[in-house]
Amino acid sequence: MTAPPRSLQKHRMATPSDPCPWSGLLSPAERERGLLAPYAMHSADSAGRRYPEPEHPYRGSYQRDRDRILHSAAYRRLSGKTQVFTGEMGDYHRTRLTHTLEVASLARTIGRALRLNEDLIEALALLHDIGHPPFGHAGEDALNACLAAEGGFSHNRHALTLVEEIEHRHESFPGLNLTAEVLAGQASRAGLDPLGPGPLLETQVVDAADSITYDAHDTDDAVKLGLVRIEELLALPLIDRCFQTVRQRAGDLSGERLRKAIVHELIDVQVGNVLEASGEFLARCNWSDTSAPRQSAFRIGPDPALTAEKRQLEEFLYAHVYRHERLVAVRGHAQEKLRQLWATLVDNPCLMPADFQQRAQQHGLPRSAAEYVAGMTDRYCQQCYQEWVAG
Ligand code: MG
Repeated sequence: MTAPPRSLQKHRMATPSDPCPWSGLLSPAERERGLLAPYAMHSADSAGRRYPEPEHPYRGSYQRDRDRILHSAAYRRLSGKTQVFTGEMGDYHRTRLTHTLEVASLARTIGRALRLNEDLIEALALLHDIGHPPFGHAGEDALNACLAAEGGFSHNRHALTLVEEIEHRHESFPGLNLTAEVLAGQASRAGLDPLGPGPLLETQVVDAADSITYDAHDTDDAVKLGLVRIEELLALPLIDRCFQTVRQRAGDLSGERLRKAIVHELIDVQVGNVLEASGEFLARCNWSDTSAPRQSAFRIGPDPALTAEKRQLEEFLYAHVYRHERLVAVRGHAQEKLRQLWATLVDNPCLMPADFQQRAQQHGLPRSAAEYVAGMTDRYCQQCYQEWVAG
């Protein structure tokens, strides 16, 4: 049997400082005790970090994790990465970074209302898409095909590799040395859960917020880009419901104002539904720690009726937006460039920075080249293609 990935190994306990050694300040543990529900993940109960570090006097473990992610190169590069629509299509639509910030904002709203740990939620949200290659899911599919014989490529797994191995913040260990809970949350997105059978409620909130966010902003971007018309979307019960609410509130709107009002309503109706469905359950459950929710089949999310309506919207977006001929063409070109760039790097590893050449010794050249390409922004990827492949 092979050894489990490093994210799955046992983490050492950390000792949170309590009370705060600086007079007049509350320690994170004290503040959380006053604010969070018993079923929330309290930073004082963290399983700690792989490489033990002293506690910070006024920032809790998850605040530190958030800051480490925020200051990482991979996070900054999200500003130059495609969410769904590429830079050639305009500058209104979301990038991978603005998508991430919208997820973090909604997830914190939901988490605060449910008295969960907002710091952990924010860290998980900022991390959740950090492993995305350039050109969105098209880029991921291309790299996955390149690595078909090597176990494939997944952006969720790559996020873990980034924060555990590739990023460096300290001279004495690789990675960002994040807490076990943040690594576990991301591992559960990647289909792994190192700490037990189910994800923490904070992880569930980020998953719910991700879904709310992309359903709303892909609708908004698709209409703004002219890929679909509002009138077509009104055939969907969820969008029609939002339209009726807008009409009752604001009368007959049209054009940009109608699109914005419907998208606003689309976020509001989803967040309200998740809070109603989850808040009532959590208030009744009498859970006194994090173990019960992790054993339970309960998941924070929309109720069954809204889940079905969201699925209809997603099917519509898949058929009419993600498969739109304009996007299919852009996606095809991007995938071909990624494939050729990867093949060029495999043939000429000296084009890669020294640390990726070094990773090739341990992880093989195909994977190391894919990891290097995955870290690129759309623009840098185009530039490297021009220089190394087309030039
Ligand atoms: Mg996302």
